[in-house]
Amino acid sequence: MNAATLLADHRRFFDTGATRPVAWRREQLQSFLRMLAEREDDFTSALEEDLGKSRSESFLSEVAVVRSELDFALKHLESWMAPEKVAVPGGLRPARAWTQARPLGVVLIIGPWNYPMQLVLAPLVGALAAGNAAVIKPSELAPATSAALARLVPLYLDRSAVSVVEGGVEVSTDLLAQAWDHIFYTGGERVGKIVMKAAAEHLTPVTLELGGKSPAVVVGGDLRAMARRIAYGKFMNAAQTCVAPDYVLTTPDRAPELAEALAEAVRDFYGSDPQASDDYGRIVNDDHFDRLVDLLPDGTVVSGGGHERGERYIEPTILREVDPGSALMQEEIFGPLLPIVEVEDLDAAIEFIAARPHPLAAYLFSDSEEHLDEFTERVQAGGLAHNVSTIQLAVPGLPFGGVGMSGMGSYHGYESFRTFSHRQSVFSKPTRVDTLRLAYPPFGPLKRRL
Ligand code: NAD
Repeated sequence: MNAATLLADHRRFFDTGATRPVAWRREQLQSFLRMLAEREDDFTSALEEDLGKSRSESFLSEVAVVRSELDFALKHLESWMAPEKVAVPGGLRPARAWTQARPLGVVLIIGPWNYPMQLVLAPLVGALAAGNAAVIKPSELAPATSAALARLVPLYLDRSAVSVVEGGVEVSTDLLAQAWDHIFYTGGERVGKIVMKAAAEHLTPVTLELGGKSPAVVVGGDLRAMARRIAYGKFMNAAQTCVAPDYVLTTPDRAPELAEALAEAVRDFYGSDPQASDDYGRIVNDDHFDRLVDLLPDGTVVSGGGHERGERYIEPTILREVDPGSALMQEEIFGPLLPIVEVEDLDAAIEFIAARPHPLAAYLFSDSEEHLDEFTERVQAGGLAHNVSTIQLAVPGLPFGGVGMSGMGSYHGYESFRTFSHRQSVFSKPTRVDTLRLAYPPFGPLKRRL
């Protein structure tokens, strides 16, 4: 079926009003939950095939995230849908005013390959909770997961309202040419611009969940504990995570010990040979593997550095003495290379971050509340986290999204519902006491003073 027909079919269904009642939304979300429970193995084995992810990691970073979004939406759905009263100024009374969330219509969700299940299904939770019909287009670079979604989603969700379309650039281009009611895109900046241009043709609103270089600033506290928390967020999914710490900023006196503590954390997690660990993933394809290996000479490798193209394996690698002008420090790394850059102090670290495009996440590692206040006040990023990396995404109440080059709009929890809703305003005034007569012409001298 071509994209235009698909959209027309879903729009016809949406226009019947079938997706509006809370009962339909609940039914979809409950069935969605059932899909995750009954088909967890299908998804985790597809993820293993695509990205070499361990089943436990896939559960924690993909299935459980979607499940928690579903639980949260089911818990709060009625309160999100409830009308909100708005105060009416004295001169317009008697009257009532309120806002009411309405679904947008038929929305398009395009996902990337790095969390190929979570990043299309978590937005879908919001789209359905808000009462929309939706088409999802998973990444062709994670073909097993894309196929699992195409096979399983229609078994659990209303086929009149939800479709999965598989394919690459051509299919995506065809979809983007249609007049959707919202486009939710997760992926890189280059394609983000293509999406926004296509959306502009129809004045379709967009949410762009992009990436960038998320810094981790280490300026105090227990270096070993911090190193473990940085290594965990970095090397999960072989560091192909949009909010993974991209590089570390620390002071010259801490840098050697931190480098050693990071190497130790890697050994604790994945053993002395990470290639043999079931818990360490692989690079998605040869192009990304080659791109990452080309970045290795941009710094001095202090631990790791091993790689094997046949397996698309790159060892968790810590680098020092990196050139701030090199590709390693200019592009989003999106792989298991972690440069440590030395800066004088927290102030210099904040200036380093401010001189670059706003990142998707920024991390502060320090036990000082003063440092936290300063970081929070001065660093502009999609989100901040203190003494952890990446796990902030597991809090459904925290909006997740970028700012500037790291994206626009946000989702998770209520923000997902809001993203996929239009808050319609309603003003209602009884006719019986026609107070408006005071404002009608002719305007004599008395009315002019009113
Ligand atoms: P990508 O931009 O290459 O592809 C993402 C999607 O866009 C795919 O579904 C693909 O089919 C489609 N696409 C690719 N080229 C297209 C084109 N020319 N026209 C239309 N559609 C096209 O992104 P990626 O490499 O899959 O993902 C990596 C990037 O995504 C990184 O920058 C990462 O930081 C970012 N990311 C962001 C988040 C977030 O939540 N903010 C999450 C994960 C990844």
